[in-house]
Amino acid sequence: MRRSKYFMPTLKETPSEAQIPSHRLMLRAGMVRQTAAGIYSWLPMGYRVLRKIEQIVREEMDATGAQEILMPTIQPAELWQESGRYDDYGKEMLRINDRHDRALLYGPTHEEIVTDIFRNSVRSYRDLPQNLYQIHWKFRDEVRPRFGVMRGREFFMKDNYSFDIDAESARRSYNKMFVSYLRTFARMGLTPIPMQADSGAIGGDMSHEFIVLADTGESAVYCDRDWFKTDPLSLEIDFDADLQPIVDRWTELYAATDEKHDAENCPIDEKQLYTGRGIEVGHIFYFGTKYSDSMGATVSDSEGKETKVEMGSYGIGVSRLVGAIIEANHDDDGIIWPESVAPFKAGIINLRAGDEGCDGVCQQLYDGLTEAGVDALYDDRDERAGVKFAEMDLIGLPWQIAVGPRGVKAGTVEIKQRGGEREEVSVESALARLT
Ligand code: ATP
Ligand code: MG
Repeated sequence: MRRSKYFMPTLKETPSEAQIPSHRLMLRAGMVRQTAAGIYSWLPMGYRVLRKIEQIVREEMDATGAQEILMPTIQPAELWQESGRYDDYGKEMLRINDRHDRALLYGPTHEEIVTDIFRNSVRSYRDLPQNLYQIHWKFRDEVRPRFGVMRGREFFMKDNYSFDIDAESARRSYNKMFVSYLRTFARMGLTPIPMQADSGAIGGDMSHEFIVLADTGESAVYCDRDWFKTDPLSLEIDFDADLQPIVDRWTELYAATDEKHDAENCPIDEKQLYTGRGIEVGHIFYFGTKYSDSMGATVSDSEGKETKVEMGSYGIGVSRLVGAIIEANHDDDGIIWPESVAPFKAGIINLRAGDEGCDGVCQQLYDGLTEAGVDALYDDRDERAGVKFAEMDLIGLPWQIAVGPRGVKAGTVEIKQRGGEREEVSVESALARLT
């Protein structure tokens, strides 16, 4: 992509409405624009990142055997009246009437819809287990939308729903999601910490929030320093095997939020205790027969008896992750994208656009990268070098290659990793490093 043609309305001034770095940087880098309170438009740069994150989530879901579906954002009120949540959900639910005065709502979550699909389609235990997911928009009329896309009203979520014949099988489904979440967040360069969460009326330990560390996070985190010793991506995972040992290994390490942490009785000694802040990026939840009970979702078991199906639901805040990843990866100059989610892998900076030599080398680099399937943003504008360097640092691409007249004469370009040192190398070795 040529910078001169790219729609990336960057801002020089720090927007005054933004309180935290990710919100400031997303506005300054031209990734998003606020359309209404807590409602955002995604511009090309931001949308590229959102899609990269979405794709990692999708690949990891598919690896567990879950199947992708797409449910409507607009839902009929009747289904929520059936589950009993229509009145309970309160003001966070955006309620709408259509022209015939039928009550609709913009879905804040999809348990009711998916349970309705299930009960109308599945009759036998032979068709279980099932796990259906979607990646789509939700609307929750939050009292205080804030921190940009981190707490929006309209936001992009991966949500999925498991259906099992009994509690034992439901635990296996839960464990798959637990392990899959560890991998999903690790692939984005984040350190995921699963913390036992309140599972409300159902009780037990079958609800975990996944927190990633960032100083500006809304949740306090207390955990054993041993969390950071094992990279989830180093584990060999077979989703058909028993995952309980892996889940146990992660849950036996103590981790707690503010409400659960008890300084007096904390089982971790002071030296081993890590105290920090984090952002909730995912939540997994086993709720048994809550919806199959109220909405009548049953299948016949192996003896022909009608049995209520056991369910769980699992969410990942896909749009929140864009902000969370920036919170975890930035410096005073801007964003530092982990390669797996970067909008482009490399930026090419032409330090003298219009100079034949510089233009030629830049084009050679750009073509070489494009042919090798490496996304590059080529800053071909007639702008001062300082402006270009500052913008590249702001938008945080993992690699920068600067091409100037002096280097071109000597047959070299300058390559650096975002936040790293510049190095003078030949055009060929710059290409070799990135392809
Ligand atoms: P929170 O405690 O942050 O309000 P929640 O518990 O209401 O979140 P869930 O219903 O568990 O959220 O939703 C699953 C995931 O969706 C959350 O882990 C979070 O990452 C994301 N999410 C929830 N609310 C928002 C929001 N208002 N804006 C952006 N992402 C959100
Ligand atoms: Mg939650």
